[in-house]
Amino acid sequence: MEISSELLNRQRDFFQSGKTKDVTYRIEALTLLGNMIRSHETELMAALKSDLNKSDFDTYITELGIVLEEIRFTLKHIKNWTAPRKVKTAFTQMGSKGYIYSEPYGVVLIISPWNYPLQLAIAPLIGAIAAGNCAILKPSELTPETSKLMAELISKTFPAEYISVVQGDAETTQTLLKEKFDYIFFTGSVAVGKLIMEAAAKHLTPVTLELGGKSPCIVHHDANIKLAAKRIAWGKFINAGQTCVAPDYLYVHRDVKDEFIKILTESIKDLYEEIIKNQEFTRIVSERHFNRVINLLSSGEILHGGNYSIDTLTIEPTVLGGVNWEDPVMQEEIFGPILPILEYDDANTMVGKINENPKPLALYIFSQSNEFQGTILNSISFGGGCINDTVMHLSSPYLPFGGVGDSGIGAYHGRGSFDVFSHQKSILKQTTTFDLPFRYPNRKDALKQIKRFIK
Ligand code: NAD
Repeated sequence: MEISSELLNRQRDFFQSGKTKDVTYRIEALTLLGNMIRSHETELMAALKSDLNKSDFDTYITELGIVLEEIRFTLKHIKNWTAPRKVKTAFTQMGSKGYIYSEPYGVVLIISPWNYPLQLAIAPLIGAIAAGNCAILKPSELTPETSKLMAELISKTFPAEYISVVQGDAETTQTLLKEKFDYIFFTGSVAVGKLIMEAAAKHLTPVTLELGGKSPCIVHHDANIKLAAKRIAWGKFINAGQTCVAPDYLYVHRDVKDEFIKILTESIKDLYEEIIKNQEFTRIVSERHFNRVINLLSSGEILHGGNYSIDTLTIEPTVLGGVNWEDPVMQEEIFGPILPILEYDDANTMVGKINENPKPLALYIFSQSNEFQGTILNSISFGGGCINDTVMHLSSPYLPFGGVGDSGIGAYHGRGSFDVFSHQKSILKQTTTFDLPFRYPNRKDALKQIKRFIK
């Protein structure tokens, strides 16, 4: 497609002008971005309602609120982050000084998914702007109203040679990927993540991959069961389970399983019954995903929920018991409002089973015991997570957010977002007032002398 190379060239020229490197320009852009979101709150909420039936409350806390908070945090720290960082120098480099300069990569491509269509496009963009880059955003085609509105708002707020939205499907992304970008930031599935990395490799373009997978949630026998049930019900069923860090499945200790299931069911009713009645529960994004998710209902037995409507693409919060690792629901990331429960007796066996699978994006531990928490943290590798909570780690600007292994490469949020989009340029500034002789080979006993310094 001509358009992508033409747009890319315009952005490249604009980047070369040096304008985006000016910190004042970045601050102005971030302020404009924040104002753009604030002043179009109603339209954004309507778009998300249309695409996913998200309630205004959910849209605010999981989309607008998160990006506005990221902008506020970035504006507060940007001067500090952009300043060259002075570092120590080695003893053998006496007289010199060391600095790390954070410099923008240039023109970056941000590819985002449909489940939090605003947040997952704008949060990386905040990092790209803060670091001084130009950016092309490719949002998901499965949330057309939000993508269209973002394209309109961005084009009214920023010149296309600085920030631009390219709408389209997989084919559009593939056309974009033929071009040489300076950085690619991708959020989406593991399968597409591999295609992105393959395409990026052809140009040696560095990537961040924010992927998914099955995130376990462990409820130990000493957990505060009431709080665990409530926080799990919230984190699993928010956005109808279409959250990359939602607890995918539960591992509950046998001693507390029956009590836990009873309280979990009560918590689900308490949190969602009214919302479902008012038709404010988030829907599944497409008929294809809806059919994929309801097919998973055949695993184990339904302990709660299980109703669905193809007309509204909604599925009730559903709990499955009697599930084992061979069931279809345990073969793929669920990405829907279905929560299977496995039980464990021996913690080592449970850890062993989790470790047989790809490294998860998130993991949650509900336990009052520091020792148990420590054992789990030490024995399972995963992107990040919470102890005695779910999902909340994602909203802290102080915690870099990302996966490991199959769940992703790299991390962002807060300072992490600035760092992701910055190359760290290391500079040694040498003194000219003296010249230590040790490195030069033309001295008597040169090797002997150098060995006195490097042991
Ligand atoms: P997806 O991988 O299907 O799509 C993501 C983006 O890639 C979209 O913009 C889409 O147009 C594009 N795309 C799709 N197929 C492509 C192809 N063949 N070639 C090039 N581009 C293509 O993901 P999705 O269904 O939109 O999102 C769900 C997945 O994303 C889940 O696995 C979830 O766990 C993951 N996710 C991860 C995070 C995170 O922060 N780690 C956040 C949200 C979602």
